[in-house]
Amino acid sequence: MRTIFSKIIAGEIPGDIVYRDDLVTAFRDINPQAPTHILIVPNKEIPTADDVEAADEAALGRMLLAAKQIAREQGIAESGYRLIINCREHGGQEVYHLHMHLLGGRRLGPMLSSAQ
Ligand code: 5GP
Repeated sequence: MRTIFSKIIAGEIPGDIVYRDDLVTAFRDINPQAPTHILIVPNKEIPTADDVEAADEAALGRMLLAAKQIAREQGIAESGYRLIINCREHGGQEVYHLHMHLLGGRRLGPMLSSAQ
C-alpha cells in the first residue's frame, strides 16, 4: 500500500529532503519532536519493521550509515542522538512505510515517557 512517504520519495509531494541514495531517502519530520528530527526511509515500500526480509539487509544497513552521515551534517554527532523505529499499533507507528526517526539537538530524556 502506497503511503505519503512513497510520494515524498518519488517527488510527487514536497518534502524537506536532506539525504537520498539508491536505497534510502531522509527528510525532515513535519511535526518535529526535537531541534533535529529526520525520518530515514527505505525507498522500497516495507510496511513495518516486522515485515523486513533477508533481501532488505542492504537497505537496512544503509539506514544506519545514512543516520551517521546525516548526524554529522546536522552537527549533532558529538552531542549525541536517538534512533527510533516504531512498529505497529503498540509501537505507536502512524505511517506504514518503515522509517527510522533520527532525533537530536537537545537532551532527549528517558526513552519512554509514559507509565508502564
Ligand atoms: P511513526 O509514528 O509512524 O513512527 O512516525 C510517523 C512520523 O511521520 C511522525 O513523526 C509524523 O510527524 C511524520 N509525518 C506524518 N506525515 C508526514 C508528512 O506528510 N511529511 C513529513 N515530513 N512527515 C510526516
